[in-house]
Formats: sequence, C-alpha cells, structure tokens
Amino acid sequence: RMFNELQELKGNIRVYCRIRPFLPGQVAKQTAVEYIGENGEVAVVNPSKQGKDRRRNFKFNKVFGPDSTQAEVYSDTQPLIRSVLDGYSVCIFAYGQTGSGKTYTMTGPNEASEEDWGVNYRALNDLFKISQSRGGSFNYEIQFGFFISFIKNMRHSLCRCSVSLDLHTLGIKSTVQTNGLAVPDASMHPVTSTSDVLELMDIGLRNRAVGATSMNERSSRSHSVVSIHVRGKDLHSGAALHGNLHLVDLAGSERVDRSEATGDRLREAQHINKSLSALGDVIFALAQKNSHVPYRNSKLTQLLQSSLGGQAKTLMFVQLNPDVISYSETLSTLKFAERVS
Ligand code: ADP
Ligand code: MG
Repeated sequence: RMFNELQELKGNIRVYCRIRPFLPGQVAKQTAVEYIGENGEVAVVNPSKQGKDRRRNFKFNKVFGPDSTQAEVYSDTQPLIRSVLDGYSVCIFAYGQTGSGKTYTMTGPNEASEEDWGVNYRALNDLFKISQSRGGSFNYEIQFGFFISFIKNMRHSLCRCSVSLDLHTLGIKSTVQTNGLAVPDASMHPVTSTSDVLELMDIGLRNRAVGATSMNERSSRSHSVVSIHVRGKDLHSGAALHGNLHLVDLAGSERVDRSEATGDRLREAQHINKSLSALGDVIFALAQKNSHVPYRNSKLTQLLQSSLGGQAKTLMFVQLNPDVISYSETLSTLKFAERVS
C-alpha cells in the first residue's frame, strides 16, 4: 500500500496540505496559492515579484485543493485510524494560521451535518464500527479525553467546574509510561458510541468558551487535543494491546506584532510560538532520525510524546488560506512543513 512506501521513504511522518476555498462574501479573489495536486505539489506566488522568482513550489505526500470534500480528506486518513485498533499510536494535527481551516479539517464547520464532519468525528465513528465488527474475537475499551491549552497550563475542559488543571502538578512526566498513557487516567472518560463522544465534545467546547471569556478572549489561540486510549483484548489468547490516538487542532501559527500585543496577550503569543516551534523541533528530530528528541521543551510535546516517535504514526495537515493578503503567513507555514517532511 501507499503508506508502506511512504514509510520506507520517511519513517512514520506524513504531511498533507489542504487549501481552503475562498469563502462566500470574501472580497479579494486574488490567490497566492496554486493547487497543482499531482505528486503532492503546491505553489505559492509572491504578489510583489515578477518573473521566475515569483513562484515557489513545495512537495508533500498529498495536496487537497479547495474543492476537496471532508470525505475525500478522511479517506486518505482512515488507514491510520484503523491501525489504532491494532495497537498503534497515532497523532494527527492541523497546523496553520487562524482562519486557514484547521478546525474545519479536524472537527468541521459549526453545526456540522454528518457530511461535513471533520476527521475527529469520522475517526471515532470508525473506531466504534470496527471494534464492534471485531466483537466476536476482540474486546475493546475506548476512553476519551479533551484538553485545551491556556497560557501556561493545559485545562481539562471536560471538568464541569472549570478548574484549570496544571499537567505539571498532576505529574505528567511521571505518568508517561510505555503503554502510552501520557495523561492521568482520571481525566479520561469511557465511551461506547459516537453520541457519547458528541455529548462530551459539546461539554468540552462549552467549557472552552467559558474559559475563553474568563481567561483568554481569543479562543482560537489555544491548542485543543482530543485524546483516545484503546485497550483491546484477544478473547481467545488473552493477549492485550494498547493503542492511542491524538487529534490536535493547534493554535494559530501567525506571528504577533510586538508593537500591538502587550502583557498577557504578548505572553500568550510567545508561549504559543514556543510550543509550536517545540513541536516542529520534535518532528524534525524524528524525521532526521536523531537519537535525541526534545520532547521535554513544552507541555504540548509531553502530552503527545506517546504518539510521536517510536512505532507511532504522525500526520500533519498543513492548512492554507488562499488569499493573497496571507502570502507571508502562507510562506512561513509551508516552510515549517517543508522542514519536517
Ligand atoms: P482555523 O481553525 O484555522 O482558524 P476555521 O476552520 O475556523 O479556521 O476556518 C475558517 C473559516 O473557513 C470557517 O468559516 C470555516 O467554516 C471555513 N472553511 C475552512 N475550510 C473550509 C473548507 N475546506 N471548505 C469550506 N469552508 C471552509
Ligand atoms: Mg480554529
């Protein structure tokens, strides 16, 4: 299969680029991104240059153009999801500036119909379907957790009382184990159906909104992590397996102008940029097969450690806004992705 070929080429890291369409009512129609598609190519066009320096091409494992559907995007992601039930660890995340379609890819639009569902609902749906179909020979337990980052801490957003939990004081370092549990078990909830998940996601998103107004007005500038742990037991041999899946909607990668941001806002921006570059450094080290992988440099990479590296499979969605106004952010997004692919 295609994934095996990719694995031989670059280990367990793959990069898909997705260009979002212009939105209805968006005035500017000039584009800075050209969808080529074949061979995973995309070109970025510098609006202020002429001649052959104007275009720059990037190549990834796959490029999805502005007309691609949620189902098409998911069909190339599905093999990774299935492998979670075979005991693999998988991390899928979306990277890009605010407004580039990260949440659309991972979750879908607000009030999504099933057709508009993003990767995380489709993934959970598949996990339940496949685990039930293996019910005669395998018994699976699936647990679900939902985490949001705030300035220094990760907030456990399913906590109804909205108490912010600091993963450091909960001992995330000491709970990282070989079975892949990177978060305290108490923050995980058993789930048996997609409707359980929808309900928990809903509570989580509501708590996120509450947290966003009291702690942090711009809710788009936080990382959100859906964490799934799977325990499977072979009913005949008794053998056990553990898989896990992290689905990550990263905070917007845009640079913040020092002259505009001050105080908490500036601290938040610096923290986000630091955690994104720590993630970039980890994936870069894995792609280079370096012996030292700097997981310890941020809470985000500690949380994701069990699904990055080793036998784990990683997929990054590089999200692009086609508008010419976004040219320089688009270029830096592509450079970030190029470094790890
Ligand atoms: P981000 O999470 O990166 O800030 P969003 O996912 O919120 O960006 O997308 C910004 C806007 O663009 C939203 O209104 C979203 O519904 C819309 N959008 C993003 N990607 C697509 C797409 N592939 N097709 C249609 N609309 C999209
Ligand atoms: Mg978003």
